[in-house]
Amino acid sequence: MAKSSELPHDDLYKIRHSAAHVMAQAVLELYPEAKLAIGPPTSTGFYYDFDLGKDDAGKPRTFSPEDLEEIEKRMRRIIGGQHPFEFREVSGDEAAALFADQPYKQELIAGLRQGQVDEMGDELDEPAPITTYRQDAFEDLCKGPHVEHTGKIPGDAVKLLSIAGAYWRGDENKPMLQRIYGTAWRNKKELKRHLDLLEEAKLRDHRKIGKELEIFTFDEEVGPGLPLWQPAGAAMIRELERLAEEVEDRNGYQRVRTPHLTKEDLFVRSGHLPYYAESMYPPMELDGVKYYVKPMNCPFHHKIFASVQRSYRDLPLRLAEYGTCYRFEKSGELFGLMRVRSLQMNDAHIYCTEEQFRDEFLAVIGLYLEYFELFGIERYVMRLSTHHKRGLGKKYVDNERLWLETEDMVRRAMQEADIPYVEVTDEAAFYGPKIDVQIESAIGREFTLATNQVDFAQPSRFDLAYVAPDGGHKTPLCIHRAPLSTHERLVGFLLEHYAGAMPVWLAPRQVRVIPITDEHGEYATRLAADLKARGIRAEADLADDRMNAKIRQAQLLKIPYMAVVGDREVAEGTVALRRRDGSRQNGMPAAELVALVEERIKTRSAEL
Ligand SMILES: [Zn+2]
Ligand SMILES: [Zn+2]
Repeated sequence: MAKSSELPHDDLYKIRHSAAHVMAQAVLELYPEAKLAIGPPTSTGFYYDFDLGKDDAGKPRTFSPEDLEEIEKRMRRIIGGQHPFEFREVSGDEAAALFADQPYKQELIAGLRQGQVDEMGDELDEPAPITTYRQDAFEDLCKGPHVEHTGKIPGDAVKLLSIAGAYWRGDENKPMLQRIYGTAWRNKKELKRHLDLLEEAKLRDHRKIGKELEIFTFDEEVGPGLPLWQPAGAAMIRELERLAEEVEDRNGYQRVRTPHLTKEDLFVRSGHLPYYAESMYPPMELDGVKYYVKPMNCPFHHKIFASVQRSYRDLPLRLAEYGTCYRFEKSGELFGLMRVRSLQMNDAHIYCTEEQFRDEFLAVIGLYLEYFELFGIERYVMRLSTHHKRGLGKKYVDNERLWLETEDMVRRAMQEADIPYVEVTDEAAFYGPKIDVQIESAIGREFTLATNQVDFAQPSRFDLAYVAPDGGHKTPLCIHRAPLSTHERLVGFLLEHYAGAMPVWLAPRQVRVIPITDEHGEYATRLAADLKARGIRAEADLADDRMNAKIRQAQLLKIPYMAVVGDREVAEGTVALRRRDGSRQNGMPAAELVALVEERIKTRSAEL
């Protein structure tokens, strides 16, 4: 989710932000004991975090769905009151007195005075003035902006959606708060459109489709965040790897393979320890040596670069590997295939000279665009994440000159190639700036799919060098890239994007041959075997069910082609073809079916 400070301060921002304040007032009226945390607008609405204290059993008190209705009712009354939003600036001491019984606000006030975080929890560069907004009898720490008065919030376009637990400041050692999510729009029609989209998103949820199509599963004994790919999922992965290998072969990449484990020293050298330690699995110790499972493939590729003497003639050197990495994501943050602990990445590292950087960088961006076209991804945003001074030596490698130079190099490359991007500070990788690619699925859900990072730190940490034309030794630049993201995230995205109805080449099951009666079983089996011999994922459905049940089953599995065979088809050597979209074609010669499927696969066509 974008930080609230990055959202445009337009009319929707004001409506949503104002609705958050109104919700907080409503909650406080209904639960005078509630403690208020923060309540920013989001890209579709708003939320607010509350602490309702503990129940008799000592557990955090929670809201129920019925409570939401009550709160919503109360909000409508406040909206109807047309209370103006009034702004004022207060001194630190005034603020402390004003929010005397609100401990979370006290923490935020301290943050504003010291210049750490603002009232939304976003980091600050310097101490900020303390300002409030007041409507009716409710006053909140806030820098706005808001609508003029509560009556400007369209009451019939606001809806409270859900309740979730959220730790104060996202820190699991801090109190668990109750977050209420709401959505707010300009009018009833916009609200309805959004609610319909949420319904559609629920139907397309990759966890639901993944289960129905038997793509992946999790098992408690294996562990959270460690997906098991079922045959259908593995078939999709095989196709994605084929795609990556073809494209990368064509673009001058070379494939390498590296182990899952390494000695601690390698990650100390790379700087992952200590910079990245929180996201790594703890070490295992053997004969006094610590070993880690890898969270990234980079250090291994650097070692391959260093394994032989390189000259400028060898550059650019592009090393690719679908490497399996392990990252210790917090259990509260695991989410289906989107956030997992084991992941297979479409990884590659490009080592190049400074002169080659621009072309290499743009070629990588070109790969992204090629894949977007293939998958019909029409809307995407490229975000350039840069460093922030205050993180130097902490979350960023401590070399400001190199940061500025590299960031400038990326910016220039993007501008010269006329590629639209937005810039965000303080979101870079620890060794250099990165481009995050955010894409939208067919129904407009956002995903961060891929990153593309420039690295000016690791090559020198690894003493990587090449012999320059003048005989001297120079350090190469390194580009980390993964346009197809990880298998986990990409498959998760594609399941939602296509609502499970994958294009033929990617469909885990491509053809199902359906005999009308037992008598046609032999012909069906032979036909399926012919298709399989050509590398097509086909099977004959020889179950005892009636034909219609078999067709229904194939439809549920979103199989692109159903080849129905009966007396006539057996006699003529044909099939009655039913496509997933319901269209039919009778009397199609079996050879024509084979040719059709082969053509769709070969061209990776989106057509059925
Ligand atoms: Zn506010
Ligand atoms: Zn890397």
